[in-house]
Amino acid sequence: MLFYRMGDFFELFFEDAKQASQILDIALTSRGEHGGAPIPMCGVPVHAAESYLARLIKAGCRVAIAEQVETPEQAKKRGGYKALVMRDIVRFVTAGTLTEEALLEPRRANVLASACLLRDRVGVAAVDISTGRMELEECAPEDMGAALARLGASETIAPDNWGEAPFDSIPRGAHEFSSEGGTDRLCGIHGVATLDGFGTFTRPMLAAACGLLAYLDHVGRGKLPLLLPPVARHGEAHMAMDEATRGSLEILRSSTGGRSGSLIEAVDRCVTGAGARQLAEDLSAPLLDRAAIEARLELVQWLYDDALLREDLRGQLRSLPDAGRALGRVVAGRGSPRDLGQLRDGLAGAARLAARLARVEGRPAMLDGLLPALVGHDGLIDLFSRALVATPPTERSQGGFIAEGYDADLDHLRRISKDARTAIAALEANYREQTGISALKIKHNGVLGYYIEVPARHGDQLMAPDSGFTHRQTMAGAMRFNALALHEEASRIAEAGGHALAAEEAHFEELTAAAIGARNEIAQTAAALARIDVAAGQAERAAEGNWCRPLISEKCELAIVEGRHPVVENALGAQGERFVANDCTLSQFDRLWLLGGPNMGGKSTFLRQNALIVLLAQAGGFVPARSATIGLVDRLFSRVGASDNLARGRSTFMVEMVETAAILQQATPRSFVILDEVGRGTSTYDGLALAWAVAEAVHGVNRCRCLFATHYHELARLADTCEALTLHHVRAREWKGDLVLLHEVTTGPAESSFGLAVARLAGVPGPVVSRAKSVLAKLEKGRAETGGIAAGLGDLPLFANVVEEAPKGDPLREKLAALDIDALSPRDALGWLYELKREI
Ligand code: ADP
Repeated sequence: MLFYRMGDFFELFFEDAKQASQILDIALTSRGEHGGAPIPMCGVPVHAAESYLARLIKAGCRVAIAEQVETPEQAKKRGGYKALVMRDIVRFVTAGTLTEEALLEPRRANVLASACLLRDRVGVAAVDISTGRMELEECAPEDMGAALARLGASETIAPDNWGEAPFDSIPRGAHEFSSEGGTDRLCGIHGVATLDGFGTFTRPMLAAACGLLAYLDHVGRGKLPLLLPPVARHGEAHMAMDEATRGSLEILRSSTGGRSGSLIEAVDRCVTGAGARQLAEDLSAPLLDRAAIEARLELVQWLYDDALLREDLRGQLRSLPDAGRALGRVVAGRGSPRDLGQLRDGLAGAARLAARLARVEGRPAMLDGLLPALVGHDGLIDLFSRALVATPPTERSQGGFIAEGYDADLDHLRRISKDARTAIAALEANYREQTGISALKIKHNGVLGYYIEVPARHGDQLMAPDSGFTHRQTMAGAMRFNALALHEEASRIAEAGGHALAAEEAHFEELTAAAIGARNEIAQTAAALARIDVAAGQAERAAEGNWCRPLISEKCELAIVEGRHPVVENALGAQGERFVANDCTLSQFDRLWLLGGPNMGGKSTFLRQNALIVLLAQAGGFVPARSATIGLVDRLFSRVGASDNLARGRSTFMVEMVETAAILQQATPRSFVILDEVGRGTSTYDGLALAWAVAEAVHGVNRCRCLFATHYHELARLADTCEALTLHHVRAREWKGDLVLLHEVTTGPAESSFGLAVARLAGVPGPVVSRAKSVLAKLEKGRAETGGIAAGLGDLPLFANVVEEAPKGDPLREKLAALDIDALSPRDALGWLYELKREI
């Protein structure tokens, strides 16, 4: 859309006007004609443009802003009386390239991403230009979805020759994605000869970066935003989660799309926006490295143990401005005096915090690592403190932000203005005395400047030719005049004011340059503050909800005692209800839990809560449980509940199978999978058959830890053949004809399905339930006679034997793989051979 500046309005025309008027709910009018038809038009006032822009961006629009780039006088000089004032597009506003405070959500990062395919690898570049963080990643094409899902970009670009890019993207010229170009640009931006100091970057990463930078150039009309040195992200450092898993676990957004009801809402106790953004990133990319997780946990623990210190820190953090984003605006050339003030206050606050922390004993290693980043800005803080007033304004054109005493010349200019103002006050008294009109006043407005005003009835006296007053204006009840002395004083004010403004402007530029010079260090300070806020927030949340520190292990195990679902628990708590805590213990020998029980019994909740606990633990936080031992999970998969993919034209069943396929293809023995009601979307026979085969494959081939909820009782027979599969159910009881759901998970197969009782609970009319009862009795009779739909399944050969390739979990292969041949003596090797042979 084109926002076209006309005086005090941005006007939109033609289709733009029609669309914008609908989205913004503003009047659609017309202006002039085009081809005989009136031109549709709508407009928004310039002073309120930001809020309208925000709504358009939210609605998915991209906006080009055309400003007047000359004054009407200049236009006249250039092209005569009828010349149009020249306009030019000064910037583009797009969802991924916002820096305005008003357009950004304080607690959410705003990411612009770029992806490209180089040979058969995908490069992904991402930047949050509000804070300048940039990261580059390379992955296999099949992992691209997960990589983009983690980033949650507001806008993604891709080369236009990518055929059908497998995601929503804005096509850009393919020549803009070149790895050499990327290297050159990044070296140029950061003033280095090689990128080696920042990390190892591959060609796909650099090509994606190149496209990203070209797009930023385009959007900013050649002016680049804040860009910090790029960080290379290597997928293996993080727990992998695909888009479906992220959606189903409702990590940053609930299924309804908002933050409300999401995991992060239930966990986030950060007191700064930057902390909340860091937490979102942590939850989006849980760690895989035990030492790194322990380092985060140690800091949380330390802050958990010392409630006073925690409160103190949080109090200090709460009062700090968002220095990272202020820096982003300053570097983008859209900084205000207020942003400079925020930098000053943020950096000074960081230094105070560092001093406070330095006094505390027994600091965790991670904190010691953060302390140096909090300090080192004394010069800048001192400069900004001397230069700026206590609360600088957002508007810089009016001046008034440079402090008294910083610049003697500026003070002098201000004194001239002030003296002149005093002189004007004195003049008023003089003129009153001189004319004898006690109601005479000296006033000021934008049109006349300073003027003398007297009631109309005294007007004649001042109109006299020799009075020394010049008539300016006649109002209904008053007349306005000028006088020489007043004119002189007014000119002095205007002149000194103009010079003062110019001086302030020059200082603003110097201060901005000083901030830009220290941009990397300021960004590090902001990041360190965010990290401390995250840890303190996690500790606070843990203290509030009685959460525990998880034990992290390298084994394929999971031992959660009295685990809870943080979101469901909150929701129940709000209604005064209690959440029933449940245990979950998986190990190599008991790695697949088949979970039965009635609908509404709490199966999905149980599945999700365990996945969330794993995620929270690997993100380095405490977890809602009495105790938890988490064997590191490399990939987390969640297939719970029907997703809203229907809109994309896939049936529920198709979606379910696509997601199940991904799990079967990708889950490793270190993965954790939760599967809910596989096969629900198709006929009973198909569904049961698929559920059966999927459970067997997960057990025998993937060999991952898995919770598998199902309403097919028949699956219970799998326990006979699958040695690491056990049966569990959520308890329920029928009491005086009513169904009581206990939400307790216990061992053993589900007793009965209670489907009819749930139907009654849901308000299905009595006669219908009774009828269903008679149908059920018939069906059950049939089942008793024929053995039911699963009759004969007992004869099925074992799944492992029908798989053509030897399963990954083949113990012989595992033994062989673990064998360190170089460390064996010939004699031991022989012993091994005999042993292996015995095991065939
Ligand atoms: P299912 O998957 O078995 O149909 P859900 O997990 O969707 O059941 O749970 C249904 C409802 O039961 C939830 O919305 C919640 O209100 C309640 N619930 C689930 N688990 C618990 C629990 N452990 N303690 C208390 N209430 C629970």
